[in-house]
Amino acid sequence: MTTQQLTPATLIPGDGIGPEIVDATLKVLDALGAPFQWDTQVAGLEGVKSAGDPLPAATLASIRRTRLALKGPLETPSGGGYRSSNVRLREEFKLYANLRPARTLIPGGRFDKIDLVVVRENLEGLYIGHEHYIQIDDDPHAVAMASGVNTRQGSRRLLEFAFAHAVATGRKKVTIVHKANIMKALTGIFLETGLELYERKYKGKFALDTVIIDACAMKLVLNPWQFDVLVTTNLFGDILSDLVAGLVGGLGMTPGANIGMDAAIFEAVHGSAPDIAGKGVANPTAIMLAAAMMLDHCQLPDLASRLRDGLYQTLNVDNVRTGDLGGRATSQQFTNALVTRIGNA
Ligand code: NAD
Repeated sequence: MTTQQLTPATLIPGDGIGPEIVDATLKVLDALGAPFQWDTQVAGLEGVKSAGDPLPAATLASIRRTRLALKGPLETPSGGGYRSSNVRLREEFKLYANLRPARTLIPGGRFDKIDLVVVRENLEGLYIGHEHYIQIDDDPHAVAMASGVNTRQGSRRLLEFAFAHAVATGRKKVTIVHKANIMKALTGIFLETGLELYERKYKGKFALDTVIIDACAMKLVLNPWQFDVLVTTNLFGDILSDLVAGLVGGLGMTPGANIGMDAAIFEAVHGSAPDIAGKGVANPTAIMLAAAMMLDHCQLPDLASRLRDGLYQTLNVDNVRTGDLGGRATSQQFTNALVTRIGNA
C-alpha cells in the first residue's frame, strides 16, 4: 500500500489501561489491513508527565491536521486539578455529538438482544464548567454553584444529528430524555426544540417519544427493549450511556464517537481503570468497537464488519474472554485469538 492511500489519523494511547488496549487495537487493525497512518500524541496525565500539559499544542495541531483520532481514556483529577482534557478536546473541535451504541455481543445474559443508541449533546448543559464556591465566615466552600447552558442552536444541531442518524440507520423510534418538569428552561429548551424539529422535518420517518430522565433510568432497567435511540443533554447522556453499558456486559463493551464540525474522535466509554492498569487484564473490546465505528466513519464498512464479526466469534465461539466478562484471558490472549480469527476469516 502506498502512503498516498493511507488515511492520516491521530493516536492518543492515553492513561492507565489506555496504552495496553490501544496497542491491542493497533494489532487488530494491522491484521485487518486498515489503512491508517498514525501520528502518536499524548494527553491527560501522560501529557502532564511527558509534555507538561494535559492537552499539548502538538496534540491539538495533529488533530487539526488529521481531523480524525483514536483515543485511549484520559485521567482527570476529581475535585481540583486540571480541567478534563476530554471536555477540552470536545470544545476545541466542536465535537457536539456523542454517539454511544450499546449492542449485546454475548448472547444469553440478564438483558439479551439489546440494541440501543444513546446520542448525547457533548458541549453544553452542566458540563460547561461555570462553577464556583462562595465563602461564608471561615468556610471557603460554604456554598457551591454551577451554571448550565443549553442553546436553541446547540440543541437543534444535536437533535438534527440524532434524527438524521436514526433515519440513516433505519431506527424505528427516538426518545427525547429530559427533566423539563423541574429544569423547565435548561432542559425544556431541548425538549421544545426536539418536538418542533420532529414536526417540521421528521414526522412519519420514525416514532418520537419523550420521557423524564428518572423514569427513563427505571424503564431501561425494567424493559430496555422499549427503547431504540435515546437523545439527551450532556449530563443525562453521560449517566445513561454508562447505564446502557451495564445492560450489555459493562464498560468494557461500549464504544463512543465524538463527532463535530472540525473532527471526529473515537474512544471507549470507560475511563483509565487505574485499579487494573498495568496488570494486562483489561478488556480491549470497547476501544476495538470504537475503532470499528472509526472504520465506518472512514467509509470502510467491510473492515468494520470484519472487526465486529471477529469480536463476536472470539467471545462466543472461541470463548476467549477477559475477567470482567467472567473469563480468564489476559488482554494479550484475547487480542491474539482475535487476530487469529481475523486471519482465518
Ligand atoms: P473507569 O471507567 O476507569 O473504571 C470503572 C470500573 O470499570 C473499574 O473497576 C475498572 O477496572 C472497570 N473497567 C473500566 N474499563 C475496563 C476495561 N476495559 N476492562 C475491564 N474493566 C474495566 O472509571 P473511573 O475509575 O471512575 O475513572 C478513572 C479515570 O478515568 C478518572 O480519572 C476519570 O476521569 C477517567 N475517565 C476518562 C474517560 C475518557 O477518557 N473518555 C471516561 C471516563 C472516566
